[in-house]
Amino acid sequence: MVNIKDYNFKGKKALIRVDFNVPLNDTMEVTDDTRIRAATPTIQKVLNDGGSVILMSHFGRPKKGPEDKYSLKHILPTVSKLLGREVKFAPNCIDAEAVVAAGTLKEGEVLMLENTRFDPEEEEGDKVYASELALLGNVYINDAFGSAHRAHASTATIAENFTSDNKMFGYLMDAEVSAAEKVLKSAEHPFTAILGGAKVSDKIEMIENLLNIANNIIVGGGMAYTFFKAQGGQIGSSLCEDEKLDLAKELLKKAKKKNVTILLPFDSVVADKFDANANTQISNNMEIPEGWMGLDIGEKAIAAFSEVILNSKTILWNGPMGVFELEKFEKGTKSIALAIAEATGKGAYSLIGGGDSVAAINKFHLADKVSYVSTGGGAMLEFFEGKILPGIAAMKK
Ligand code: AMP
Repeated sequence: MVNIKDYNFKGKKALIRVDFNVPLNDTMEVTDDTRIRAATPTIQKVLNDGGSVILMSHFGRPKKGPEDKYSLKHILPTVSKLLGREVKFAPNCIDAEAVVAAGTLKEGEVLMLENTRFDPEEEEGDKVYASELALLGNVYINDAFGSAHRAHASTATIAENFTSDNKMFGYLMDAEVSAAEKVLKSAEHPFTAILGGAKVSDKIEMIENLLNIANNIIVGGGMAYTFFKAQGGQIGSSLCEDEKLDLAKELLKKAKKKNVTILLPFDSVVADKFDANANTQISNNMEIPEGWMGLDIGEKAIAAFSEVILNSKTILWNGPMGVFELEKFEKGTKSIALAIAEATGKGAYSLIGGGDSVAAINKFHLADKVSYVSTGGGAMLEFFEGKILPGIAAMKK
């Protein structure tokens, strides 16, 4: 694999796998163009060098072939606007029309192929299909970190068709992988991982893997209550996964053995219902009254977590500390975000990954006060579970 910044695309047709899986409104307009913006530096580099671009992306989860609501044609105007030039469209990925459109593409031109997931071969990672896609260009760029955990034709298999000097990460993918590797492989200590969100079950493998590299694991959000119940606590009607109680106990034991501190929130803001206008009180997490549920971490937890965060040199944050979408329960998540920003200001390296913590850091306008905010939810999770991501592995072969 080569480095995109050293490559000259003059006269080249670059096949770029991007992640343009953006949200649309009822009238099929793009409501958040972050993902398209994130890929433009890579596209512009090819165009500025004098190359042409063929864009490939999935869009939504079509089940049985083409569906109008999942057509990438809806996002063409946004892509054209952001690139400042007309973007051509091929209504299929590998048929004769696509081959001609790609073959006649001139310097400085951009062609977008239809949703790769309209073809079943995409998700099967089909080799023949991947080789037909590969024939459309003569250099392959993967800039879709958000899809790097999928062994699909356009994200992984296709790379087999390019020699190592004709395939590379795009700028976005490169930044994402560098940020994740910095934390996973060369973290400065103390290293604190902060995990939150609704379910323990989504984060088990991540906790297991982090036990090998982190000094502290802060657990907040809905997932914390399973740990309290596992230790004999009364958690009222807080979220709990009863089938994970043994596993929670096991994780606490493992952490002790490995000398990793798992910090659970001492107290919670508990509510009498899941509602923006619920009645609230503060409760110790081992004794939440019947009929009340923990929806945010309390002041004692905020103070304890902030102190650990401020003394850390590396910080990984995945998942909110409470129901931050509701103002009444946002303080825990906001305070933790502020502590991470302050620690970063003092020289710590902080990586925010996973959909909801990214939404939280944006909500509190702190994205520019942390070291890196990842665009890849599922991919980032699998990376920190210690898995090899097919989209990365395929480029390194
Ligand atoms: P996840 O996708 O697992 O990271 O979960 C994120 C969601 O968990 C957010 O929408 C939060 O509102 C929710 N959440 C966080 N803490 C709690 C809690 N204590 N009770 C219920 N939901 C929570």
